[in-house]
Amino acid sequence: MKVCLHAANHWPTRVALLLLTAFQALSSYAAEPALKRFEFSELHMGVPFKLVLYAADVQVANAAARAAFDRVAALDRVLSDYMVDSELSRLNRTQPNQWVKVSSDLWQVLSRSQKLARETSGAFDITVGAYVRLWRRARREKQLPSPELLAQARAVVGYRLLELDAESQSARLLKSGMRLDAGAIGMGYAVDEALKRITAHGIKCALLDASGDIGVTDPPPGQRGWKVAVSPRAKDEGSTFLTLSNAAVTTSGDALQHVDIAGKRYSHIIDPRTGLGLTTQTASTVVAGNCTTADSLATAVTVLGPRDGLAFIEKTPGARALMVVANHEGATKRYMSRLWR
Ligand code: AMP
Ligand code: MG
Repeated sequence: MKVCLHAANHWPTRVALLLLTAFQALSSYAAEPALKRFEFSELHMGVPFKLVLYAADVQVANAAARAAFDRVAALDRVLSDYMVDSELSRLNRTQPNQWVKVSSDLWQVLSRSQKLARETSGAFDITVGAYVRLWRRARREKQLPSPELLAQARAVVGYRLLELDAESQSARLLKSGMRLDAGAIGMGYAVDEALKRITAHGIKCALLDASGDIGVTDPPPGQRGWKVAVSPRAKDEGSTFLTLSNAAVTTSGDALQHVDIAGKRYSHIIDPRTGLGLTTQTASTVVAGNCTTADSLATAVTVLGPRDGLAFIEKTPGARALMVVANHEGATKRYMSRLWR
């Protein structure tokens, strides 16, 4: 009874509040300028970065796009393994056992990589660079790396050979000749960071596609999400359509980067346990809450294979995956994590 009286006493106030809120919503809606769609494209990290965003005017759109692309260019100077003076390349040249304080971006990438390496028992391994170098040469020369060179590389690969100190945000390499390679995670990190710059410009709806590493924020006006087509193996095998908001999707696999030698196809993704390019033809599409996660997981599950890979995805909150595996005759089989189905 007391509660009823209490509510009755406040009834007119509540109605007035509701009306006020509705009025405020309507007036802010009326005051909000219509959003227009803008598209941009620039080459970064060796691939086209395509940006779609919704903004009130061209000045805001241009400023946000400039900030996003500048952030990607700055991250390339940190993470590139092609630029000899990138922060990562300089770290690769330090004396063994010497602690080096790293930038906060490199710290993020290294610590995320090491966490995933531990969780996947080294299927994902940022120290894989010495193998990557051999397989890049194999792709150019169409010749397998020799057993001697593979053995030399094996001595300087292994995530336990990279040590991190969280307190001082420092890293050290335990062996000389080690080469860290951020190729499986850096692009995803760049997409996340670029989208943060766009959001900081007051833009809520954006999509950034770094040639298959795709991140999105809020849906375009009036829509449920961004419609993204993923073609895990090849466009002619049909696409799967996803509707995404505040999420990311990445596909990893040998579809574009591989070398055929003596009837076998070797992927640019390497099994760090053998040093060999993967020969099971797999394309893995991963959706996750951010692109750093989607990018690194897509590579990791490709190495792990459908059984272990999808079991790992199902333990990762917010992640889902589709893996398409081709057999020797070219027939494909699809595997999906529970949340994908
Ligand atoms: P992605 O296209 O994202 O799957 O990344 C592939 C790239 O990551 C390769 O070109 C290498 O630079 C690097 N990479 C290859 N194998 C691995 C691995 N097992 N773990 C981490 N990085 C790898
Ligand atoms: Mg990746």
